[in-house]
Amino acid sequence: MGEAEVKPKKAGPVQCSICSQRRAALKRPKTLEQICRECFYAVFEEEIHRVVVDNQLFKPGERIAIGASGGKDSTVLAYVLSELNRRHNYGLDLFLLSVDEGITGYRDDSLETVKRNEIQYGLPLKVVSYKDLYGWTMDEIVKMIGLKNNCTFCGVFRRQALDRGAAMLKVDKLATGHNADDIAETVLLNILRGDIARLSRCTSIITGEDGPIPRCKPFKYTYEKEIVIYPYSFLQNLNRIYTYAYFKRLDYFSTECIYSPNAYRGFAREFIKDLERIRPRAILDIIRSGEKFRISTSAKMPEQGTCERCGYISSQKWCKACVLLEGLNRGLPKLGIGRTRGLNNGLECDTKQSNGVKNIQSKQCGTLDF
Ligand code: SF4
Repeated sequence: MGEAEVKPKKAGPVQCSICSQRRAALKRPKTLEQICRECFYAVFEEEIHRVVVDNQLFKPGERIAIGASGGKDSTVLAYVLSELNRRHNYGLDLFLLSVDEGITGYRDDSLETVKRNEIQYGLPLKVVSYKDLYGWTMDEIVKMIGLKNNCTFCGVFRRQALDRGAAMLKVDKLATGHNADDIAETVLLNILRGDIARLSRCTSIITGEDGPIPRCKPFKYTYEKEIVIYPYSFLQNLNRIYTYAYFKRLDYFSTECIYSPNAYRGFAREFIKDLERIRPRAILDIIRSGEKFRISTSAKMPEQGTCERCGYISSQKWCKACVLLEGLNRGLPKLGIGRTRGLNNGLECDTKQSNGVKNIQSKQCGTLDF
């Protein structure tokens, strides 16, 4: 008689490693723990709460603007901050602040999402537009300059637009949805470009404390994959699933800007994702390394002043936005780009960044140089 065929045992459902009661729904990218949805919500929100408390990001009674693009990061930030504000009695007045760059087919659609978020979360919304602030939309700028350097204009204008919008709202701070992956990418890019000034501040959880409106990053240690990940049940489906936003059924906008150059940051991002695949802690390690950099006292740092033209903070006679705007208005859009000779110092000196490097653009929008 032949031996009975031994059938391989079928693995049973994996239990949540935190509560041991429910089925695991995902593997946490940060810790590789297999956990259920409920425990995921709890640890995800609790970690952000700890970041807020340990770093004293907010004080009771403060007015806080949340930079809201309608994308996954800022949508989750708005949702989580309003939840934590209620649950832990932060005592904050929260607002949504959006920038309308004037990009037809992209920003007009994403602003519709933010308008819905305004109602869903009960947070008042303020929208500032490039057209109103600068007299130009990005559509008009791209028509003039083409698809090269468009993000330099957009990033410089957005940074100032957010500050101006925050001033209109009379808020004490601006909270942005930059996550751990964004910050690790910025650390790497600033090292590669030798940008000492930005390297020294890109890991700070609060920046601009000496300026008009400080900015803070409550998602500094939040992995993008905890906002965007593949839950088990969707592993065969190669479409991205937005984990927290997806499980919570949050209303977000996921289309890329039609003027996105794609190449920016792609390099650093891919490298970080490769490292993360081998060692998930790599993202946090890069951030920690960035925090540990000490700038030599002999390194010359740009001195902060104000723009002679508009009064915005600047280390030059005119701020970068005014230089770019002057170029546009004079039909010389290259005036403020890179090493082009420009307006600061009366055409005698170039208008590159004070430390000699160009802005680093974020994955989709604006700069992370704060
Ligand atoms: Fe502006 Fe971002 Fe579009 Fe570039 S990708 S044009 S920075 S919205």
